[in-house]
Amino acid sequence: MMAKRDYYEVLGVSKTASDDEIKKAYRKLAIKYHPDKNPGDKQAEESFKEAAEAYEVLSNQQKRQQYDRFGHAGMGGAAGGGGAYGGGSMNMEDIFSQFGDIFGDGSPFGNMFGGGGGGGRRVRKGSDLRIKLKLNLEEVANGVEKKIKVKRHITCKACTGNGSKNGTELQGCQTCGGSGQVRRVQQTMLGQMVTTSTCPTCNGEGKMIKTRCEVCFGEGRVLEEEIIPIKIPAGVAEGMQLSMGGKGNVPPRGGVAGDLLIVIEEEPHEILHRDGNNVIYELYLNFADAALGTSVEVPTIGGKARISVEAGTQGGKILRLKGKGIKEINGYGTGDQLIHVNIWTPKTLSKEETDILEKLKNSPNFAPKPSKGEKSFFEKMKDFFN
Ligand SMILES: [Zn+2]
Ligand SMILES: [Zn+2]
Repeated sequence: MMAKRDYYEVLGVSKTASDDEIKKAYRKLAIKYHPDKNPGDKQAEESFKEAAEAYEVLSNQQKRQQYDRFGHAGMGGAAGGGGAYGGGSMNMEDIFSQFGDIFGDGSPFGNMFGGGGGGGRRVRKGSDLRIKLKLNLEEVANGVEKKIKVKRHITCKACTGNGSKNGTELQGCQTCGGSGQVRRVQQTMLGQMVTTSTCPTCNGEGKMIKTRCEVCFGEGRVLEEEIIPIKIPAGVAEGMQLSMGGKGNVPPRGGVAGDLLIVIEEEPHEILHRDGNNVIYELYLNFADAALGTSVEVPTIGGKARISVEAGTQGGKILRLKGKGIKEINGYGTGDQLIHVNIWTPKTLSKEETDILEKLKNSPNFAPKPSKGEKSFFEKMKDFFN
C-alpha cells in the first residue's frame, strides 16, 4: 500500500491556506480530473478521489484541526492500512454530493449527476453515531484492536432499502404526479394566486410505496446490533475523535450511511502518570538504599523492569528508561519512562533506630555538601525535555 500524501500537498496549498483558497484549489482539480473528462483513465480517477478526500478533510474545520495535530492517523485512515477503517475511502456518490457546495448552482457538471431531469439530486446521508471508548494506558501506548457493539440503522435487506414489499419498484405518486410538489390555485381579493407546496402524500419524494415491506414497515432500514472491529493507533489521547466512514446510520428509504465517531477516553493508571508521550513514575527509596546503592523493580507499561540505583543517589534525581513510554501517534518515535527518585524519611522511629541515627548524625559524611555541579530540579527537567 502506498503512503498517503499530505492533504495540503494534494491540493497544492499551504498549511495556512484560507477556506477560500482550499475551495478554489479543489475546484480546479475536480475539473481537471473529472472522470467525464478522462474516460477510462485510472490515474485521473485516483487523483480525482484523492483531491476529494483532501477537500473533505480540509474544508471541515474540526477535521482539519484534527489532521493538523495528528496527521493521517488522526483521520483513522493510515494506521491499519485500510480494512475496517474507512476514514479515507470516499465513494463517487460522496464525492458528487460535495459538488453542490463547491460549484453552487452554476455547476459545470450540473446535469451529470441528477440522472436527467431532476437536476441537483443529492445523495442523502444518514446521521453520525458517536460512542465513547475507554482505553487504559497499555492500550493507549501500544495501540489496540477493539470490537465494539453498536446499534445502528442499516439498509433493510428484504426490500433493499426502498421500503416496498420485496423491494418492488415504487410507483409514481398520484397526488402530485411524481413531481413531489402540489400546486394550489386560490382566488383571493388580489386575483388568482398559485402556491406550491410539498406533496403531503409522498412528502416530496414523488414516489409511493404500494405495499409496505413487512420487515422494516416501509422505513427501508432496520435497527441492528453490529460488532465492529476497530483499530486504535498507538498514542491516542483523551478527547481525540476517530471516525469510521459509513458505519453510522443509513437514512430512511435509502442513501449513504453516516459516520461512526469514536471519542477516546483515557483511564488513569493507578501508578504511572502520563505526561505527553512520556510516562512518569514516582520511586520512593529508603534512605539507606539511596546511600548504599541498590537494585529495584519498577512498574512500566510493558511489565516490570529492574533498575540499579547508584550508591549516593540524591532525592530528585530522574532516571530514564528509554523507549518505555508511549508511541508517537504519527509513528515517529516513542516516549520514555522517567523515574523520579524520592528519598523516604521515616516518620516514626523505634528506640534502637533513634540511637543509631543519633550516633550517625554528626558523622562528617552526613553533613549535606551539594557540589557545584548538582543541578536543581528545574534544570533536570529542562535537560529531559530538550
Ligand atoms: Zn406526491
Ligand atoms: Zn424493508
